[in-house]
Amino acid sequence: MADTVVTRFAPSPTGYLHIGGARTALFNWLWARHTGGKMLLRIEDTDRERSTDAAIDAILDGLRWLGLEGEGEPLFQFARAQRHAEVAHEMVARGLAYRCFATQAELEAMRELAAKEGRPPRYDGRWRDRDPSEAPEGAPFVVRLRMPQEGETVVDDLVQGKVTFRNDVLDDFILLRSDGTPTYMLAVVVDDHDMGVTHVIRGDDHLTNAARQSQIYRAMGWDVPAWAHIPLIHGADGAKLSKRHGALGVDAYRAMGYLPDALKNYLARLGWSHGDDEIFSMDQAIGWFEVRDINKSAARFDFAKLENINGLYMRATPDDALFDAFLAFLPHTDEGRALLAILDEPLKAKIRMALPGLKERAKTLVELLDGCRFIHAVRPLAMEEKAAALLDAAGVGVLAALLPRLEAVEDWSAASTEAVVRAYAEEAGLKLGKAAQPLRAALTGRTTSPGIFDVLAVLGREETLARLGDRVTG
Ligand code: GLU
Repeated sequence: MADTVVTRFAPSPTGYLHIGGARTALFNWLWARHTGGKMLLRIEDTDRERSTDAAIDAILDGLRWLGLEGEGEPLFQFARAQRHAEVAHEMVARGLAYRCFATQAELEAMRELAAKEGRPPRYDGRWRDRDPSEAPEGAPFVVRLRMPQEGETVVDDLVQGKVTFRNDVLDDFILLRSDGTPTYMLAVVVDDHDMGVTHVIRGDDHLTNAARQSQIYRAMGWDVPAWAHIPLIHGADGAKLSKRHGALGVDAYRAMGYLPDALKNYLARLGWSHGDDEIFSMDQAIGWFEVRDINKSAARFDFAKLENINGLYMRATPDDALFDAFLAFLPHTDEGRALLAILDEPLKAKIRMALPGLKERAKTLVELLDGCRFIHAVRPLAMEEKAAALLDAAGVGVLAALLPRLEAVEDWSAASTEAVVRAYAEEAGLKLGKAAQPLRAALTGRTTSPGIFDVLAVLGREETLARLGDRVTG
């Protein structure tokens, strides 16, 4: 029992699954896999005002897309409020916690006094040793932890090292509110204990909470889990991650056309490393991952690097698998949805045929989608400015000469059309590019595309001749 590692990812469903959360989930997942343990998922939905079903769905959907679901069904924290309260009552009964009847006015006065004396506000322990019978009949109360008043709490953190907190600074914090609902501090500890969590891997904004939570474990005589507080992700400029830097939901990364495996590879490297390895499979990462190797300093989010990695993954992904990923991506952008609306079997076949050429030029699925445009563009094609410039008198002359020769091709393919264009270029004393450029412009409306003869093959005889005809007669 004791040696089975149990990690957990515990998002609050008050917004989407953001990129930092995805990395936290990944680190928990990697550590569980590395040790042959398991990762559990807990939805911390105790903030009833801000928790939404839409956020829960977005989190589950994002984790599913990344392949980072926890084992079994997720646990919902709010549903366990009863159990949390039970523990608080047990603590009161055992003298580990106590009822505090301090009124709002009293607490306010404490805060004011602290401010005047230049101290951080903290509860002064006025009900610590008083008998509840001294409180007015039926007065509301909260339950506070009876913290040690002297000494220190040490959080022995796998990433941060030993971090020491003075107990008098932690104060007798609240476990149960006056309406009987548990605080976050209590709920997390009870859940982690009940779920058998051995390793708490989470953002370092929770480091002080770890000190407080340790005291709940200590009071209850429960095993304290191993802590690993990971530094937040910063922007490329070192500032806190903002939307501009990439502080977006995982769904935004999906819509930007990243492959889940590429994103995981990138996120794994964001704050953790194995030598100089930049590109690795998740199996390799599972083999290598050690919580202790997580960096202590903040990692910087770098879109250019993510894009490069994604480009490498795109090229390394077998065509059929990439095509599946592409089809799965389409519903997530406007342009993708527009393509889906017209995507019949023949068009699908054309895109699949063009894929090997397209993927060489695309770093993301968005770029792949963009690269497809020429395939389903409607005649007469809209021309990009540079493409239009290629269709000057000389360019159109080339097309006029090529059109009848291509019309004569019966067995239409990249090879057969290439032979015709080469023969013409030779005869006319043109470099192949001089013939290919106006062709590309006329057939794609652009100056870049997959190999031009692949374009002819993908478009097919009829559409190619029609597009050329539009330029020659038009
Ligand atoms: N629900 C907390 C959050 O989303 C995490 C709590 C924890 O990991 O202990 O920040």
